Amino acid sequence: MNPVTTNNPEETRAFAAQLAPTLRAGDVLALHGELGAGKTCFVQGLAQGLGVQVAVSSPTYTLINEYSAPIPLYHVDAYRLSNTQAGLDLGLEDYFDGQGITVIEWAERVTNLLPDRTVHIYFEPGATPDERRLRVVLPSEAPP
Ligand code: ADP
Ligand code: MG
Repeated sequence: MNPVTTNNPEETRAFAAQLAPTLRAGDVLALHGELGAGKTCFVQGLAQGLGVQVAVSSPTYTLINEYSAPIPLYHVDAYRLSNTQAGLDLGLEDYFDGQGITVIEWAERVTNLLPDRTVHIYFEPGATPDERRLRVVLPSEAPP
């Protein structure tokens, strides 16, 4: 079902957690949505699904957090990256080519750096304050 509607943070985390087993080292997830859309909440569920044992919080000030797990998780918040060059300086490409899964909040800040294989997830408001619509766009469905 796409988009998926979630009614609370737990459902958003559960949705992300059930995606985790489908992911492989080198996969890149680009999260799009306004402040409070649920992006960090999604990453918390993803981390749980990947077997990360520690609490995940937003890397807004550190820009990237690395979590060990059978497949490591690299959590990027690109909000404060002004442009592509800032993303390059941060070494984003090395993360994409690394042995883990990279998930990026505010991915539109670094569109030019995202590999073609990136899976995009759009977070949109729902009909009630706690409802969110999560739309997954696979690389095969993205416009060329
Ligand atoms: P973002 O990283 O996109 O800025 P966060 O995940 O940090 O967003 O915050 C989402 C906020 O919205 C949290 O306070 C969370 O409790 C709340 N919320 C309410 N409903 C939902 C939902 N269905 N999914 C995710 N978060 C929700
Ligand atoms: Mg966030």
